[in-house]
Amino acid sequence: MYNSNHSIASNLLLTVVVSLFAGFIIGYPGWTLAFALLGWALFQIKQFNRLQQWLMDSSNSDVPETSGHWGELFDELSRDQKRQLGRSQSLRAVIHRFQQSSAALSDAIVIIDNHNNLEWWNRAADRLLGLKASTDRGRSVMNLLRDPRFVRYYRKQNYDDPLQLPSPLSNEVILEYRLTRFGVGDRILVARDITRLKQLEQTRQDFVANASHELRTPLTVIRGYLETFLDQDLPRPLQRGMNQMANQSRRMENLVSDLLLLSRLEASPHISDELPIPIQSIICRIRDDAIALGKDKNQTIELDLDPNNTLLGQEAEIYSAFSNLVFNAVRYTPAGGRIQIRWWADKKGTHFSVADNGPGIDSIHLPRLSERFYRIDESRSSDTGGTGLGLAIVKHVMLRHNGRLSIKSEIGQGSTFSCHFPKELLSSGSQRQPDDPDEQEPKDQAAPSSIR
Ligand code: ADP
Repeated sequence: MYNSNHSIASNLLLTVVVSLFAGFIIGYPGWTLAFALLGWALFQIKQFNRLQQWLMDSSNSDVPETSGHWGELFDELSRDQKRQLGRSQSLRAVIHRFQQSSAALSDAIVIIDNHNNLEWWNRAADRLLGLKASTDRGRSVMNLLRDPRFVRYYRKQNYDDPLQLPSPLSNEVILEYRLTRFGVGDRILVARDITRLKQLEQTRQDFVANASHELRTPLTVIRGYLETFLDQDLPRPLQRGMNQMANQSRRMENLVSDLLLLSRLEASPHISDELPIPIQSIICRIRDDAIALGKDKNQTIELDLDPNNTLLGQEAEIYSAFSNLVFNAVRYTPAGGRIQIRWWADKKGTHFSVADNGPGIDSIHLPRLSERFYRIDESRSSDTGGTGLGLAIVKHVMLRHNGRLSIKSEIGQGSTFSCHFPKELLSSGSQRQPDDPDEQEPKDQAAPSSIR
């Protein structure tokens, strides 16, 4: 690398030596040295000025021609300038390629800075979100996407789940928004057009609802005739066959009515009316039905109900959800087992739980248990006569009530299924403090019953 200090010092030394030598020859060493140093200094100043001028306008002018250490310095600077130029050209090519590829994407990509202002976006964002480069660059994202649901989602710290909303340009176009953080407080927003997916989903829901509806009438007729035939005095083999047919048609009827219920629940994400539900009497009714269902199993069914608190919601849906959980407990818990049903409130909201000491469920199944037709053990489930839709119904009822279903289970120890409702759905009465439902469930299984 070029060493300017060393080069200037040797140049200066050479000037001093030569001028002193010449001065001694002509008899004026002092004057000769002074003139030589003055000339040397003027030369350095001139070169320095050329350097300064070139640096100020280095992109437009060629490197100054000179020799000696200044020449070496200029050459070094010129080489460095060429290297920088090469680097900036390849960087520009990368940026150009990135812009080209992101422009070709059908998803909208928007980069938002740490002040929530729009920094950059691709062409799809113009089309899907209506962003305009001339007016919107530097504006706050929340001024452009004003839907309160988007604003709430944007302010949330957790972006694990995407948000589905109509596009700001048209209600017909449904977009799925995903936010990702990067850098220091910057975000990337990706918006995807899922209109077609939504339409397919709607078609599927309509098909299931229509098919179930159409199947209901013929099934009722078949079962009606079968039951009439079974009242007759039939030969034994025929009676066995008829019995099986009647059982299977009953199972199909249950399946069809669960499918219809599920389609109704899916049709809208939230309940329209929140009415007070006589929750204690509903649970007592479910308990009575459960005793009838498990009459040959000699199970103990205990109730622990908070008498003060009740729930706002849809009674039929809540009945369906709670009865599914209690009937599952009866069906899957062996004879002589123990089932505990609880209803209580705390500072987080209200809770319903059903705990049993049945076979339990392996933790690998828990995340998928509320999917429709998900079964751990096909033979065990068909023995119990279940439809495979019970927990899917519970999950949807809970979603419509802004609540959630939680499941805790251990093989050989039993299972606890809990429904947690937000405190906005609590309808008056004193509240017990301060249980965390998830932590309390196993301990409270032994809680004393207030109604038995
Ligand atoms: P099914 O009609 O088959 O009961 P569900 O959706 O109600 O359908 O339940 C899904 C699966 O979860 C069941 O097949 C069963 O294996 C398991 N399950 C549900 N409740 C219990 C329980 N209390 N104890 C053990 N397993 C259960």
